[in-house]
Amino acid sequence: MSAFDLDMLLAGNRRALAKAITLVESKLDRHRDQAQTILEQVLPHSGNSIRVGITGVPGVGKSTFIEAFGLYLIEQGKRVAVLAVDPSSPIAGGSILGDKTRMEELSRREEAFIRPSPSEGALGGVAQKTRETMLLCEAAGYDVILVETVGVGQSEYQVAGMVDFFMVLMLPGGGDELQGIKKGIMELADALVINKADGDSEKLAQLARQQYTSAMNLLRHTSFWTPRVMTCSALKQINIDAVWGMLLEYYFRAQEEGGFLDKRAQQNRDWLHQLINEMLLLKLSQNAAVKARLPELERRVEHDQVTAYAAAREIIELL
Ligand code: GDP
Repeated sequence: MSAFDLDMLLAGNRRALAKAITLVESKLDRHRDQAQTILEQVLPHSGNSIRVGITGVPGVGKSTFIEAFGLYLIEQGKRVAVLAVDPSSPIAGGSILGDKTRMEELSRREEAFIRPSPSEGALGGVAQKTRETMLLCEAAGYDVILVETVGVGQSEYQVAGMVDFFMVLMLPGGGDELQGIKKGIMELADALVINKADGDSEKLAQLARQQYTSAMNLLRHTSFWTPRVMTCSALKQINIDAVWGMLLEYYFRAQEEGGFLDKRAQQNRDWLHQLINEMLLLKLSQNAAVKARLPELERRVEHDQVTAYAAAREIIELL
């Protein structure tokens, strides 16, 4: 990418942004190299956004919420980027998330940038690409980055590890639901937002809020922030402003208490370590001496002729 394109990106040009993201997502080494050069250049211009993770089971109302929330933020003068991490989509286009037909009104707005989930690929996988895309969006001047993921598998952990604030959307209808949530997810959440608090479900949602509040209070929280439980209706646009109010409160308090930059620094460190691990594994799997020796060692381990520990050490020493 030429210097001109970089300026275009920094000026918020969507085509330049899309082009840079395409390079980030590419499987070609040459593109990856180009992408890394761009990322290094944009790094000083990134970081100026509020990064928000949003998860919840399919049908909870994530896209409806993001549409309503995104449009609300635009009204407040913000530019909004929506990125998706969809672990269920090995093939581009086949994803649950990031489908352009969702969030129709938001996707038509000049102030919004919606990017579907990248397909799995190089080192770090989808999460790595989403992190890099996030930096590009920040450099292009987006003030709020919403990272969406489905509440299945490991993706919540990946997303929680790249955002400032992690929000779990819930359905009204407490009891059984409460049993269904993995405790780990509750521990990740900075807020539980019970969606569909409208019409007949309103009462149920309030009841759920009480139940979730007590459940959350049982968890031990180490940071300055006690996770919130609130209700909203994405469809009727009720309490959408309150969600933003909560995020702003978190943001200001996190900055005051110094937790904000610490958290990002920790996330960067974790990311570094994750990449080192992955790169090491890749190097190992591509090493000719390892490839030659491994089948024989596997066989010997299978037959108890050598311990797994000794075999593993032998392999590592080949590197
Ligand atoms: P996602 O799979 O989590 O992205 O969920 P969607 O946004 O596609 O919503 C699933 C269904 O729930 C759709 O039929 C929405 O219209 C409906 N829905 C979403 N938010 C609300 C809400 O606040 N109230 C009500 N009553 N329905 C909602």
